Amino acid sequence: AVPPSSLTYQPVLKRIAEEIEHTPGRGRPADYIPALAARDPRAFGMAVAELDGTVYGVGDWREPFSTQSITKVFTLALDLAREGDELWEHVGREPSGNPFNSLVQLEHENGIPRNPFINAGALVVTDRLQTRTGDAAGELLALLRAESGNPDLDFDEEVAASETAHGDRNAALAHFMASYGNIDNPVPALLDQYFRQCSIAASCADLALAATFLARHGIRADGTRLLSRSQAKQVNAIMLTCGTYDAAGDFAYRVGLPGKSGVGGGIIAVVPGRCALCVWSPGLDERGNSVAGVAALDRFTTLTGLSVF
Ligand code: GLU
Repeated sequence: AVPPSSLTYQPVLKRIAEEIEHTPGRGRPADYIPALAARDPRAFGMAVAELDGTVYGVGDWREPFSTQSITKVFTLALDLAREGDELWEHVGREPSGNPFNSLVQLEHENGIPRNPFINAGALVVTDRLQTRTGDAAGELLALLRAESGNPDLDFDEEVAASETAHGDRNAALAHFMASYGNIDNPVPALLDQYFRQCSIAASCADLALAATFLARHGIRADGTRLLSRSQAKQVNAIMLTCGTYDAAGDFAYRVGLPGKSGVGGGIIAVVPGRCALCVWSPGLDERGNSVAGVAALDRFTTLTGLSVF
């Protein structure tokens, strides 16, 4: 297929939304906290942001949802920008093949998590960003506001409180890594930062725009550089191999783009040099990825021929 000119994104999005509308079986919203379980599984939105900040969207593309693990991409970028390769002494870069909140591999690998996108790895990244900035979640929010151009983005205190109330497993991960010396900050302070990070509410439009720096090889919306070209490639590569929980192989096979999902039902994806996307639908499959979201990105790359392959 021939890559579309920007004018053709809108018909492609419209067609995808119509197909999704007629697809039965949308999965189930995450139910580990009440705030996520309440979302309508039939909600669907999708946005494409071009390198110059032009955004196209369809369906509920302006509706804010809980970003959750999508934020792990942005904290990784912020920390990598500050400390560079030293980060990799504390977290690996291999797909885990285990669920996002798994404890099992940490003991075998001396408290070094497999990658920055499973919860254990994200806790390490947030911990390191917290040490360097004193306010990891605040740095993240500032980045998302600036890149999306939406100053109203904010933490959802109800979601953050709910995560804290159900946070035993993340606390266990953090304490376990702390026992190996791989966490600097006191665990309760780290968890507070991590849960606030996960609680940020944003729309498909916001997140497609916010992810565009990865399509611009590391250049932010204001033209300054956040990541080197090589670091942007690294983040995209880790999204491709580790971004969709233990289904990253299937996601690469179907979609063929770097992507990162969250249990709020959002997925961001990057077409380097071209555009960034975000899709949202709260119903998840058994591995925690949005059913309609993966299907929509699968259709997008099929219809446009845009993929990294
Ligand atoms: N706040 C969730 C947790 O840490 C994030 C889960 C996710 O989106 O993968 O359990």
